[in-house]
Amino acid sequence: MPVELTDKLVIAISSRALFNLDASHQVYESQGLEAYSDYQIAREEEPLEPGEAFPMVQKLLRLNDRLGDSGGVEVVLLSRNSADTGLRVFNSIQHYGLDISRAAFCGGESPWRYIQAFGCHLFLSSEADDVRNALDSGVAAATLVSNRGGAQSATDQLRFAFDGDAVLFSDEAERVFKREGLEAFSASERAAAREPLGGGPFKPFLSALHQLQQAFPPSEAPIRTALVTARSAPAHERVIRTLRAWNIRIDESIFLGGLDKTDFLRAYQADVFFDDQRSHCESAAGHIATGHVPHGVANS
Ligand SMILES: [Mg+2]
Repeated sequence: MPVELTDKLVIAISSRALFNLDASHQVYESQGLEAYSDYQIAREEEPLEPGEAFPMVQKLLRLNDRLGDSGGVEVVLLSRNSADTGLRVFNSIQHYGLDISRAAFCGGESPWRYIQAFGCHLFLSSEADDVRNALDSGVAAATLVSNRGGAQSATDQLRFAFDGDAVLFSDEAERVFKREGLEAFSASERAAAREPLGGGPFKPFLSALHQLQQAFPPSEAPIRTALVTARSAPAHERVIRTLRAWNIRIDESIFLGGLDKTDFLRAYQADVFFDDQRSHCESAAGHIATGHVPHGVANS
C-alpha cells in the first residue's frame, strides 16, 4: 500500500523560507550556478541559520507530539536546488532536529507543480512567481517578505493572523471599494450583509486548521487564529455572517477601520500574518513573519 498524507495538514516550504540562504544566494546571483554549487558543497557540514518560516515550522512539527497517530502535520521541502547542493539543507534539517523527511529538489526548475501531488494546504516561498503559480492552481500560498532573521516568538501556541478580503474571502467586495470608494463599499456591504462572501485562497487552509483544532479542548488549543481586517462597521456584519455560514471557527476578529495592523499583530503575538496588500505587509515585515498573497484586485 502506498503511503498517503490525506489525513494530515501538509505545508510545503521552500529552502529559502526555512533557512537563511542570503549569503549563498548572493554567490548564485553574482557568480552563477557552478560557483553556488561549489560554495554549498564546501559548507555542507555548516548548518544554515534559521529563516523566516523556521519558528513557525518548528511549532507546527511540535504539534505532532500532542496529536499522536490521528492526523498531524507534515512539512515538505520544495526546492529549486539540485539534490547535490540541497544536501546542506537536509544536513541543516537534521542539525535542528526537524522532522522533515519528504522533499523535491528540482534542479533549477520551479517546484510549484509538485504542490498538488503532495496534497499541500499551504505553500510558503520567497519566489513570487512560484507563489503566483501555486495560487493559480488553487492552493493557499504566500511570498515571505519579512526580514526578522527567524526570531523566535514568545508563546508556545501557534498564532496565525489573516487578512479578510482577497485572503480568507474573495475580492468581490474589495473590487467595489477600488472602483467606487469607501461609501459605496459600505453601502453595498450593508445591503449584502446576509449574503455570504465567496471563499478566498486561504479558506481551505483555515478550514484545515479548524479541523486540527477540533482535536483539542478550546482551553488547550495549540493553534489560535485571528482575522485582522481593515474593515469596520457597517462592513463587519457580512464577514461575521460569512464565517458563521462556513461553520469555520476563528478565535479573534479585529476590525480596524483602516488603522495600521502592525501594533495589533504584535499585541496578538502573531507567528505569521497573511495579507494581499503590499502596504500592510511592508509595515508588518520588520516585526512578524509576513506572507504576501499576490491575489485579487490589489495585485492585478
Ligand atoms: Mg485584503
